[in-house]
Amino acid sequence: MIDLSGRVAIVTGASRGIGRAIATQLAACGARVVAAAREDNARQTADAIAAVGGQADALSIDVTSPGAAEQAIEFAMATHGRIDILVNNAGIARDQLMLRMKREDWDAVLATNLTGAFAMTQAALKPMIRQRGGRIVCISSVVGQRGNAGQANYAASKAGLIGFAKAVALEVASRGITVNVVAPGLIETDMTRTITDGAREEWISKIPLRRLGAPEDIAAAVCFLASDEASYITGQVLAVNGGMYT
Ligand code: NAP
Repeated sequence: MIDLSGRVAIVTGASRGIGRAIATQLAACGARVVAAAREDNARQTADAIAAVGGQADALSIDVTSPGAAEQAIEFAMATHGRIDILVNNAGIARDQLMLRMKREDWDAVLATNLTGAFAMTQAALKPMIRQRGGRIVCISSVVGQRGNAGQANYAASKAGLIGFAKAVALEVASRGITVNVVAPGLIETDMTRTITDGAREEWISKIPLRRLGAPEDIAAAVCFLASDEASYITGQVLAVNGGMYT
């Protein structure tokens, strides 16, 4: 059992899907969690964690807003006095074939998925460096590793996260901070709910483990990378994709 007792974790995009599962599992491992999403959307996640004896606060931030990252870190520091784990999970997709893709859809996806992670990481690193330790996990995608038609903006943002994490990992390793990436395959969440039954069956037939992933599959990988057991792992991409891309 992974023990994260006494650690403070911020999870962006914690209102539903993968982020909610990550926040829940980190709390089950003993972490005090700041569950962040827009408006008051992460409230249910925080309440559900508290209902089973965990510790969580809901925080309203839009990762694309200037100053939001600093606000999130200030909240964690004011509430808990430290920040040990940052999970850059907030993400959106605006799919379209390249020739028809609107510039605003390119900008929106890059702003949330990549620039949001940049801002959160930069803000979190300051207290982590002072503490001489920390764990940063970015949620990329199999699409960032192998591409996908109709997702040039999303693929670019998710591939960008991999390069970003590898570069930052080298910069902060001497401070005891690790930076890693989890690259999910196809996971059952709101993001994938619009897939037609036919397309779903076709995807499943191409996944060696013959099922879509669950948010909890991703959360387990994040908890491992956040744990003491993963202290010698940095700059890595952990694919959690049922074998669909190796
Ligand atoms: P989801 O169910 O659509 O949830 C997305 C989360 O991101 C929500 O909590 C949403 O919160 C938050 N979010 C979006 N824009 C935000 C913003 N500007 N500021 C703050 N929070 C924001 O998606 P999911 O499937 O759980 O995906 C989570 C992550 O995993 C994403 O980065 C996604 O790209 C990645 N991923 C998903 C899959 C998959 O198959 N589902 C596969 C690979 C990678 P609010 O809307 O409540 O603010």
